Amino acid sequence: MASRRKFIRSAALTSFSLSSVDLLAGRNSSPQKIKNNPVVVSTWDYGIKANVGAWDILGKNGRALDAVENGVKIAEADPLCQTVGYGGLPDRDGFVTLDASIMDEAYNCGSVSCLQYIKHPISVARLIMEKTPHIMLAGEGALQFALANGFEKMDLLTPKSRKDWMEWLKSSKYSPEINIENRKYSKENDPMPGGPENHDTIGMLAMDASGNLSGACTTSGLAYKMHGRVGDSPVIGAGLYVDNEAGAATSSGVGEEVIRMVGSHLVVEYMRSGSAPAAACKKAVERLVKMNPVKCKSIQVGFLALDNQGNYGGYSIQPGFTYAVKSQTVEQVFKADSFYK
Ligand code: ASP
Repeated sequence: MASRRKFIRSAALTSFSLSSVDLLAGRNSSPQKIKNNPVVVSTWDYGIKANVGAWDILGKNGRALDAVENGVKIAEADPLCQTVGYGGLPDRDGFVTLDASIMDEAYNCGSVSCLQYIKHPISVARLIMEKTPHIMLAGEGALQFALANGFEKMDLLTPKSRKDWMEWLKSSKYSPEINIENRKYSKENDPMPGGPENHDTIGMLAMDASGNLSGACTTSGLAYKMHGRVGDSPVIGAGLYVDNEAGAATSSGVGEEVIRMVGSHLVVEYMRSGSAPAAACKKAVERLVKMNPVKCKSIQVGFLALDNQGNYGGYSIQPGFTYAVKSQTVEQVFKADSFYK
């Protein structure tokens, strides 16, 4: 998909409005707005492919919640995407364990952590949200829930990821790599220049034509993590948060640091206080760096935000964090500004 379109990267990231109308038509459990221009944003270059799945829904005036689920499923199913879903890099014991979360415009949310053998953890998270009295299911219980609800059990470890893991076993050195700048995700670029990433997440945020926001976040987490390790992605408020009255945010990067600061919720709160999306992400990153300046020199964390007017932006600790945008007028990958240049 990427090769069929011309994507322009902007060196400095700015957020801009795609909708000027904010007409609130009543407030109840699911606030409604009218006449907004739909938009979807998602983390990293591979978001451009996933956004197409979201746009299949948004472009037909569908619901943001359906859009984000449909969108991230593209990354989950793609074996070339070694940081999400099927084909994700395993933990140090060779198990692919997945984390995912989803949240709608009315604070409904669901998540799944350390889930094995299921290709689409995001759909399990949605089912937990819609069909159980709970928000999060983990590990074996999550697997049993998925199987009982018709999800198919499959081996998620692809030959390529198995090979990479076997190679890693030779040193067994646990070391989350900072994203490799300027790599392009595409079939033509596999393997990616500079070597494989060993962690990333697809976080996706959307606003639909009704002006409602939703978000989804899904990952195989940090490669070669301890078995049972859970990152920020399934933790509501850390890897994902959506508040129709302010905006939505998601994160990628070393999840332990994002959990520590409840990062996505913080970004949303900064937007509520008046910050534009990129500025809100910047404030959160600055706070993170202040909390742990030494560690932040050698790790990546990036935030992506979408406010309830359709403005978007991102910011990261290290250079190289990108995000993809799709709307009626934009289809583009942007490079976020960063704390370190
Ligand atoms: N945040 C993910 C985790 O910690 C990994 C990433 O996005 O890089 O599991």
